[in-house]
Amino acid sequence: MAGKRGLIMGVANDRSIAWGIAQVAAQHGAQLAFTYQGDALLKRVKPLADQVGSDILLPCDVTDEASIDAAFETIKEKWGGLDFVVHAIAFSDKNELDGLYLNTTRGNFLKSLDISCYSFTAVAQRAVPLMKEGGSLLTLSYYGAEKVMPHYNVMGVAKAALETSVKYLANDLGPQGIRVNSISAGPIKTLAASGIGDFRYILKWNELNAPLRRNVTITEVGNAGLFLLSDLGSGVTGENLHVDSGYHTVGMVQVDAAVE
Ligand code: NAD
Repeated sequence: MAGKRGLIMGVANDRSIAWGIAQVAAQHGAQLAFTYQGDALLKRVKPLADQVGSDILLPCDVTDEASIDAAFETIKEKWGGLDFVVHAIAFSDKNELDGLYLNTTRGNFLKSLDISCYSFTAVAQRAVPLMKEGGSLLTLSYYGAEKVMPHYNVMGVAKAALETSVKYLANDLGPQGIRVNSISAGPIKTLAASGIGDFRYILKWNELNAPLRRNVTITEVGNAGLFLLSDLGSGVTGENLHVDSGYHTVGMVQVDAAVE
């Protein structure tokens, strides 16, 4: 990753998946810039950016076009170009990540799809002009896009739309040498995950039923991220890479699994 410059969007704290990817990318020599959502997160993100020697730390709320424009304008001024972007951003009203999908409101449907899906396309629109020598765009998904997972509800619909946007963006941007992929991460205890009803049960269920019989770490997601962001993944685009201890391959409960 030496000589590569990347923007990391979605660090909230040191448990964030975006931080796992940032650490691995930095360990392999990438130069990083970070965005953070609102002043409340600045005090958490600043020490992390310092840890990996980053001096570009920009506010960005992806619901605000002007805010995304401003962040990319600064990247352009400081770097003139960009090699990769990590988009690890999602939001839904937590009252609707419990109970039935049937009860999703129009307001929360639109907000969840806006922040968790459209924002990746909005970010791509600004990143592409800076990727003059090709590049790599990466976002984060979850198995709830493919199969019904308890309480994931409207986020499952948003992730399905996100995974499909990955394919359309990959096809649009392939001729420019820009690759677009997602990682479908297994459940990890983060701030965003704490909004999902019964998340502890989901973690336990995955641990007991995944082929590897354990959950994944943000560093493991980071390692897979390194593959997709670096030239190691040069032939891979439009892909949704599962980093979930193999959970997505299993069609039935393991005989040795017993959730308390
Ligand atoms: P996290 O809470 O650490 O990160 C979520 C980030 O989204 C935060 O940094 C938050 O500031 C940002 N965000 C939300 N609304 C925003 C807005 N309007 N503008 C800018 N930023 C905004 O949680 P995480 O689990 O690391 O989530 C990162 C990504 O990984 C999400 O897309 C999530 O859906 C996905 N994911 C998480 C899991 C899991 O189990 N934790 C599994 C699979 C996929």
